[in-house]
Amino acid sequence: MIVMKFGGTSVEDARAISRLAEIVKSRLDRKPVVIVSAMAKVTDSLVAMSHAAANGGLPDALKLLRQLKQRHLNVAAELVDGKREAELRDEIQQHFDTLQDVLRGIASLGELSLRTTDNVLSYGEVLSSRIVSAALAARGLNTVHVDSRKVIVTDSSFTRAVPADETNDRLREIVKPLVNGDKVPLMGGFIASTPEGITTTLGRGGSDFSAAIVGASLGARRIEIWTDVSGMMTTDPRLCPDAQRIDAISFDEASELAYFGAKVLHPATLIPAIEKNIPVYVLNSREPSNPGTCIRSKAPKSRNMFRAIAAKKSVRVINIRSPRMLMAHGFLRALFEAFDRHGVTADLVSTSEVSVSVIIDGSRDVTALVEDLRKLGKVEVESGKAIICLVGENVRGRVGMAASVFSVAASCQVSLHMISQGASEINISFVIEERDVPEVVKALHARFFPPRAEAKPRSRSSEVMLLREEIAANAAGVA
Ligand code: ASP
Ligand code: MG
Repeated sequence: MIVMKFGGTSVEDARAISRLAEIVKSRLDRKPVVIVSAMAKVTDSLVAMSHAAANGGLPDALKLLRQLKQRHLNVAAELVDGKREAELRDEIQQHFDTLQDVLRGIASLGELSLRTTDNVLSYGEVLSSRIVSAALAARGLNTVHVDSRKVIVTDSSFTRAVPADETNDRLREIVKPLVNGDKVPLMGGFIASTPEGITTTLGRGGSDFSAAIVGASLGARRIEIWTDVSGMMTTDPRLCPDAQRIDAISFDEASELAYFGAKVLHPATLIPAIEKNIPVYVLNSREPSNPGTCIRSKAPKSRNMFRAIAAKKSVRVINIRSPRMLMAHGFLRALFEAFDRHGVTADLVSTSEVSVSVIIDGSRDVTALVEDLRKLGKVEVESGKAIICLVGENVRGRVGMAASVFSVAASCQVSLHMISQGASEINISFVIEERDVPEVVKALHARFFPPRAEAKPRSRSSEVMLLREEIAANAAGVA
């Protein structure tokens, strides 16, 4: 079996959901379990209405609620007809009635607990999963809606609940027989419940996590994360139009990139799948024939020295100089305790005998931190910087790699403020002026990612071969 997870933009309207249905149809032989996010922007809107209700803005909250209801009813009406439409409409109406009661409750208490937040946020996936399952049924798929809150069991850390072992048993008891019976189970991502049945959520963006949990527990052949981009890119295409699609990337590499702001998905949410060696594909629901990017515990060596180049803009450098540091111990501890006290995270650090440079996110107010640091030495803050990070497992133990990177930077006539080769040895980072980012990224990309012929979409016959392989594997495998 496989897991197919569709993100918010892949279920954003009736057209997207019709596309989803075609994509699922094309994979029926692989025995899919389908997981959907809330429709695009719905979770944000639920957050907004719960806050409005708690802060004296009940009319605003109810206005948002009406808009959201209309949007869901319209999408439902476009997708299904007749008796099915009437039933779906009733169900949507009921959910919004209950949600309205919840909002009024929040407003009268003037208080919003984390538990109630999860209750409100769950409606996005509760509704989308109902609508998508009705749409699949209307298109002739043998689908069964499974309420995720009956199978994904968590502790009660609301808004970032942690799945419990019980989840495995329930998935195997409830979902696996459906797969074996050639049904297509359809579940909402992100939502779960405590053993007592109180609704929880897995944290924002948590549908990917749901997909990984389900895939790992049922022994999926692969997990497909359907989104609105064709996988991960060798660099930000807005910075560099020559950016290429990455065919395959290791989990560690993907994690480095996520940290530097590659926003496709948060790899940490894939850990359950990666631990079981299940490949995770990032695919484009608007271009299903594009092979996308495969993330796995170990990826094949890349053709190029690096897998990707990331840039993180608007960072700050804090330099602390202190003669006291010379030959003294305990200095770094005192320094990082100050960062800790002010809740500021260090992105990169480099030290010499008498000075330390720390790179931090530029959006933080550092006045109090700097005050504190002055007790340790002379402090200087520089803004408007950027981190450039080259990631790739080929970096490990490679001779001359740093030299070739820096010669490209030198050819752009930019000076480097700080250099760091990560302990993981899969990245090399340096700090430059923010305004130099486009030029440097383009130059590095041209040097390390020579143009290649984009892989042709797979031919029909190789697609069939792949299917056969997976069917054979499935027959031998779990499902
Ligand atoms: N709908 C949830 C969110 O927007 C979960 C998800 O889409 O992954 O955070
Ligand atoms: Mg997402």
